Amino acid sequence: MDSLAKIERCLATEPENKASRAQWERERARLGLPALRWFQYRQNNTGGSFHGPMNVIVQAATGAEANKRGEELAGLYFDGVSSGHDCDCCGDRWYRVWENEEGEAVPSVYDEPVEAGEERLFVYADGWMEGGETK
Ligand SMILES: [Zn+2]
Repeated sequence: MDSLAKIERCLATEPENKASRAQWERERARLGLPALRWFQYRQNNTGGSFHGPMNVIVQAATGAEANKRGEELAGLYFDGVSSGHDCDCCGDRWYRVWENEEGEAVPSVYDEPVEAGEERLFVYADGWMEGGETK
């Protein structure tokens, strides 16, 4: 097992271990993997109501990867109007970030660093989630 996989396993069993998380990021850098960034999704209250947290903030190497992880892990869905889930006068509930978007170094909303909470769900690259749920 390579060291990155070992650290991933360690994070899976100790998800709140921030020291391991920092070590994991250093190991990614050592292996030449892209630095992880944070990508923000802001919920649109389509049909007049919000469902779950206002913001979902996903850690990933690229915007494209963040879109995929957000759908798989955090309950984000895109193109909600065309799929019939969302109101067509209000628009989609969630929008993809641009695939080439740079993201932020730390979880941020409108360029301001934020903490996880009921209105802010963080999705870490290892799958650990912190904060409110998108239900
Ligand atoms: Zn509407």
